[in-house]
Amino acid sequence: METRDVIIIGSGPAGYTAGIYTARAGLKPLLFEGSIDAGGALMTTTEVENYPGYDDGVMGPDLMLKMRAQAAKFGTEIITDDIVAADLAPDPKKITDSEGNEYFAKAVILAMGAGYRKLGLPDEERLTGRGVSWCATCDGFFFRDKDVAVVGGGDSALEEAMFLTRFANKVTIVHRRDTLRAEAIEVERAKAEPKIAFAWNSVVSAINGDNAVASLTLRDTATGAVSELPVSGVFVAIGAEPRSGLVKGQVDLDESGYVKVAHPSTATNLPGVFACGDLVNYQYRQAVVAAGDGAKAALDVQGYLHLVGTRTTSEISGD
Ligand code: NAP
Repeated sequence: METRDVIIIGSGPAGYTAGIYTARAGLKPLLFEGSIDAGGALMTTTEVENYPGYDDGVMGPDLMLKMRAQAAKFGTEIITDDIVAADLAPDPKKITDSEGNEYFAKAVILAMGAGYRKLGLPDEERLTGRGVSWCATCDGFFFRDKDVAVVGGGDSALEEAMFLTRFANKVTIVHRRDTLRAEAIEVERAKAEPKIAFAWNSVVSAINGDNAVASLTLRDTATGAVSELPVSGVFVAIGAEPRSGLVKGQVDLDESGYVKVAHPSTATNLPGVFACGDLVNYQYRQAVVAAGDGAKAALDVQGYLHLVGTRTTSEISGD
């Protein structure tokens, strides 16, 4: 089987941008966008108001479809599948998809992003799809005129809560502190929304219900007092965890599981392996930062291929 110049694992702003840049550099990238998570976290968001160039805002999925189309337009070969194994130390590197097909490449860009963090409660799994959700845009419709809760105090929690006010009767934001982490503009909007209430200094200690969510048990983090919040749905928006399981044991990770790179480059500890986006970056998790990171990884790959002497400067100059 042919050895490619570069394989990109993962999509979202980082993966698709890496595709755009490596394709324009003539590297004929092969990009695995994932089966379920293709497009990344923005596929389950609503309006993105802070992506530069969209002064009227843009829907997250629309932005991703545009980036995907742009990558494809320049020749990125996109496969909607998951990578289940990656042997990254040898040259060439071996990548295996979910059907057991093997692919080889001189360089690999890791852009697997991060997945939703879970509360870790015993009934969370059992009641998933029965009132427990991580995606208001996907499931909000089912809670028309119902009372629901959103857990978290970041931008995602507020965005989910605002979206849910379109359907729900009342949305209670359950947050473990008394100050929100979200952007000031979002905080103001949420506080002004009459359908939104706040349960401050509260953590969810149990999700209750036989066949569907009926209530949450809340514990006050300051006093320890326990209370019951009757809700039909709970949307968990407490951040993300890196999807680095595929490369654990090969690529150096930090204590939280994020891939370590040699800042300011995107190089990992393995030659020819680069990482970008939310898989690396827990400080600035923004679409625009991930896109910039994807561009950096693509440029780093070009530099690497030049260094190892498989491509000339003019072949990989891109734009
Ligand atoms: P985040 O900023 O990490 O916020 C997570 C929230 O969940 C925090 O309020 C945190 O509480 C809480 N939390 C974490 N673990 C918890 C646990 N085990 N139990 C209860 N609460 C817990 O995550 P995010 O809201 O998903 O945002 C991630 C990044 O994406 C951020 O950079 C954000 O700005 C960005 N984002 C941007 C937009 C937008 O601009 N439109 C929309 C969504 C997300 P503490 O505050 O106490 O730590």
